[in-house]
Amino acid sequence: MAYLVFARKYRPQTFEDVVEQAHVTKTLSNAVTSGRLAHAILLSGPRGTGKTTIARILAKCVNCSEAPTSTPCNQCRSCTEITAGNAMDVFEIDGASNNKVENIRELRENAKYMPAHSPYKIYIIDEVHMLTDAAFNALLKVLEEPPAHVLFLFATTEVRKIPITILSRCQRHDLRRIGINAIAAHMKKICEGENIDISDKGLALIAREADGSIRDGLSLLDQVITCTETAITDKEIIDILGVIDRQILFDISGALFSGDMAAIIDICDLLYRQGRHMMKFYTELIEHFRNLLVVKMEGAASTLSDVPAHERELMEKQVGNITQPHLFQVLNVLFEEEWRIKLSASPKTALEMTFFRLMQIRPAFSLDALIEKLDRLKTGIAPAGKPQSPGASEPEPSASEPEPSAPEPEPSAPEPPVHGNVLSETGPDSPGDPGPECPADDPPESAPADPATPDAPSETPPMDLSQMDNGEIWDRLKSSICEKSPVLGACLADGTLTYTPPDRLVIEIASTHPNIALLRRKKNIAGIEKHCNDFFKQPLKISIDVKQTGPDPGDLKKKHRELESEARAHPLVNAAIKTFNGKIQDIKIL
Ligand SMILES: [Zn+2]
Repeated sequence: MAYLVFARKYRPQTFEDVVEQAHVTKTLSNAVTSGRLAHAILLSGPRGTGKTTIARILAKCVNCSEAPTSTPCNQCRSCTEITAGNAMDVFEIDGASNNKVENIRELRENAKYMPAHSPYKIYIIDEVHMLTDAAFNALLKVLEEPPAHVLFLFATTEVRKIPITILSRCQRHDLRRIGINAIAAHMKKICEGENIDISDKGLALIAREADGSIRDGLSLLDQVITCTETAITDKEIIDILGVIDRQILFDISGALFSGDMAAIIDICDLLYRQGRHMMKFYTELIEHFRNLLVVKMEGAASTLSDVPAHERELMEKQVGNITQPHLFQVLNVLFEEEWRIKLSASPKTALEMTFFRLMQIRPAFSLDALIEKLDRLKTGIAPAGKPQSPGASEPEPSASEPEPSAPEPEPSAPEPPVHGNVLSETGPDSPGDPGPECPADDPPESAPADPATPDAPSETPPMDLSQMDNGEIWDRLKSSICEKSPVLGACLADGTLTYTPPDRLVIEIASTHPNIALLRRKKNIAGIEKHCNDFFKQPLKISIDVKQTGPDPGDLKKKHRELESEARAHPLVNAAIKTFNGKIQDIKIL
């Protein structure tokens, strides 16, 4: 018997065997068993995803001796004839070569007669979008009111080419591209059955090359198997299929991150010598960097369903020290340079130039890193004005503090330095009187002047928060935060502080505040919490609340209505309507 290629030998014969199209097969099998099968069904989707296969299985479902059934027996006359492709009542028509109106007229005439021995006469038209306009028109009538014994099954890769009049008479099912992992798993099952020794990495290479088509995957597998007599190695697969070794992508991204231009030129040379298609490599390179970016994004790595586990591990390792903005910059440049590679007479040189450009990129800092740097810079400057400014020296209230029940021993130690204190410069907090507690000039002298100061903080008892004067304490707390973390302090400038017993401090921020998201980051809340614990000398929990501000939505609506009626009544508008004999369609408030 002649050799049967895998794609034909392992063509699914039941809905259960169809790979990754459950959304279609489940609907169709339910339709068959519940007797709600439409008389015209259109299956659309990329090549090799199972359109014709599903159409044949559906034909078996309705023509099997056990019909209607969602699990055809594959034993009876109808089933075996359909599998063999010589069923008397199932007509498989190639739409590309039978696209004339005469062909459809013939079909229409033929459809009137009863099936030979099955319940249904089934017309499977493949590539139905190839029919001419006249042929489609000829199909319209019979499609609208077909004889009860006729079932039309259409398959197409280009559904947009089908006239809307036809589409509206069909029940449409869209098939999806099949994922690399699903194709690889299917091929693995076949290889195990055929006793073929092939690695998972090799299967992943073939599956990637199949580009979402299971038929293409099986054809490539066939090709690889025929080319070798012994066990198939990954290198052989790369050579036979001419695919890019995935390791090269990791090598080139690794060389870029470590700034090794010589290694990149070597890789480009190697690809050139092997005769690899540069544009294809470039496309894979973009996809590779996109995957690296996704891996770097917190919580997004699980969406990389098309990347085998071993590659994902490698990716995680490679981007460990690389920032997200840097990866984004690389991707950006790769997209910008794509057309050069495409149009260049020497794509290899263009590729090298692109990498030269990528080497020039100075890695961008993430927002967090930038804030950290800024804070370090600011606190680095502060000691120049004042030798030591420990935040722990805060708890002692200033001399001017009126209420605190636990007065501190050193009234002379007023406040931390306020050089670079964003709050004191910009702070619009009206009640807080920054004067007495933020004396910008004296701390350098006063701190060393007081001999009691160094020991005081450790002896300071926790502050009685229920007694505290929020406005004043809050201002001092902000000053303290500003000193250690100027950016965080600046973000808190407009907030208000309330104490909720027993251990919670609520910082309220206006909803219009530009840095709400920044403040709400876990890291920043923890930072504020630490500052507060140091400041109040007791463990406290911090929560950031958002206070709704801005105009009331109800008022806004009223205002809009007023503006609208004003616009309608405007003499200029009325004159324009009269002149052009028009009418007002819509009024937009700008
Ligand atoms: Zn059967």
